[in-house]
Amino acid sequence: HTVAQYRIWGSDPQWQLYFFPLLACIFLMLCGYHRTALDLSSGSRKAFAFCNQAALFFCLVSLWGENWLFYLSMAIWNVCNIPSFKTGKQPGVKNPGEMYLPEAVRFCIRKLEKAGFEAYAVGGCVRDHLLGLQPHDYDLCTSATPEETAQVFSQYSLVHNGEKHGTIGVILKGQQYEITTFRSEGGYTDGRHPDWVNFVSTVQEDLSRRDFTVNAMAYAPGKGIIDPWGGKKDLQRGILRAVGDPEVRFREDSLRILRGVRFAVRFGLIPERDTEKAMEELAPLMDGLARERVFDELRKLLPLVTFGDMQRFAPILTQVIPELKPMVGFEQHSPHHAYDLYTHTAHVVEAVPNKLTLRWAALLHDIGKVPTFTQDENGRGHFYSHAEESAKMADDILRRLKAPNALREQVVMLIAGHMLPLEPDKKLLRRRLGKFGKEAVYDLLTLQKADFSAKGTGTEQEADSFTQVEVLLAEIAQEDACLTVADLALNGRDILALGAEPGPHIGACMTHLLTQVQDEILPNDKTVLLDAAKKFLREF
Ligand code: ATP
Ligand code: MG
Repeated sequence: HTVAQYRIWGSDPQWQLYFFPLLACIFLMLCGYHRTALDLSSGSRKAFAFCNQAALFFCLVSLWGENWLFYLSMAIWNVCNIPSFKTGKQPGVKNPGEMYLPEAVRFCIRKLEKAGFEAYAVGGCVRDHLLGLQPHDYDLCTSATPEETAQVFSQYSLVHNGEKHGTIGVILKGQQYEITTFRSEGGYTDGRHPDWVNFVSTVQEDLSRRDFTVNAMAYAPGKGIIDPWGGKKDLQRGILRAVGDPEVRFREDSLRILRGVRFAVRFGLIPERDTEKAMEELAPLMDGLARERVFDELRKLLPLVTFGDMQRFAPILTQVIPELKPMVGFEQHSPHHAYDLYTHTAHVVEAVPNKLTLRWAALLHDIGKVPTFTQDENGRGHFYSHAEESAKMADDILRRLKAPNALREQVVMLIAGHMLPLEPDKKLLRRRLGKFGKEAVYDLLTLQKADFSAKGTGTEQEADSFTQVEVLLAEIAQEDACLTVADLALNGRDILALGAEPGPHIGACMTHLLTQVQDEILPNDKTVLLDAAKKFLREF
């Protein structure tokens, strides 16, 4: 077919050749146009951009036809909707005339300005405002030196911890607001603190030391948004771009790489090409970071990641947790598993709710599969005791990252128990509830369900079993069931009152009674239990 033959609908005997592709293009255009499309992951957004471009190309070719006005208007519509061309389409991006600031923040800015200094709300709060999100805190920056700031707010309680780096905390109505002097800073040789900070005189210089353009904006009432690096435009286009030369910025502080992942994931931004390249190439520099800084970033990042993010940012995630690296592409050689280890893990992470302990447990639950892998004579893969091995490795990893003990212990417990049978059997479930506690059993079930759904090979029967377990757990909750010795209708003193000597056999007797009640052999009734206790003590 020549271009001239793709002319008028219907008059060409082979009109389907272009009619159906045209319909598909219109559909894709509509999808691309729809705002929610821009809420999708970066990969999908790229796909929509591609579809828009394809539709545009088709429309342009069709301009030769007689319906040129129709095609021309469609072409224009398409150009406007290519995500990377359009402005103002990132959901929630506002045109800032005025930005809402809490009264306390306005008060700080006013007070500093009255004293002859400049002051701005800066960083995350401006970005969140433009995205139509509620900022969770407001940071301020000012031309006043820390001493001058302290002077201006001398009648309020002040926090001087960060003074060396230019920050004074002002407590207003019980809440702390951080006011930081405009500054520039040097590299983070120790991975923890900037080597030096210099106070500078303009807000533009202060914004230049910040990590990403979307974080490098400041706002003051009456002055509007100060945005020397084009953060607003990047936000509108959905782009994450380092301020200045990405390589230099990531070499100064490699935590910015992980922060970049977090901002990309959190706001659905696509890293700009050079920024992404530098993120991947310089990822090994993160080995030198203070472990608690890494943990803190992961703490914020893990609850947000999807399967797609886990795949996309695998080179960076596997750098901060090197134990994940051998899982990428690791074939399981098992009829129970459709995916390689890392892909399976990524699915499990996405499938559990965004509770931190569950996300960590999901991420590390199969990490011990690599060292425990064996193959039998039929070539089938086995991972004997991998749950224990994973728990051990997770314990090491979380200790290394200086995770809080309570979190580490819960994660390790969940991983160790992720293969523990939770069958639809009330007696068993009561015992599990007694042993682990209600929250842990629910978390274990959630993890097991996610693990099951991410195998890609599960049967309906197995899925049913989880539903039955849930039903039974709900029933047990209704029953006010006896789960621990504390729920028994008698206590240790009652047993001593039977004339028993104090000692370990009292505990053994209580445990025995609990098992009898949980297995529905005895009712939870004081008289009955006292009789049973007497019998137990006689035989003990
Ligand atoms: P969040 O909503 O998660 O608090 P945020 O942007 O406020 O996001 P913070 O870690 O609170 O992030 O940092 C406040 C601001 O300080 C950032 O917006 C950024 O401008 C700057 N910043 C923080 N850490 C760095 C860093 N490592 N390198 C450069 N700039 C940074
Ligand atoms: Mg913040």
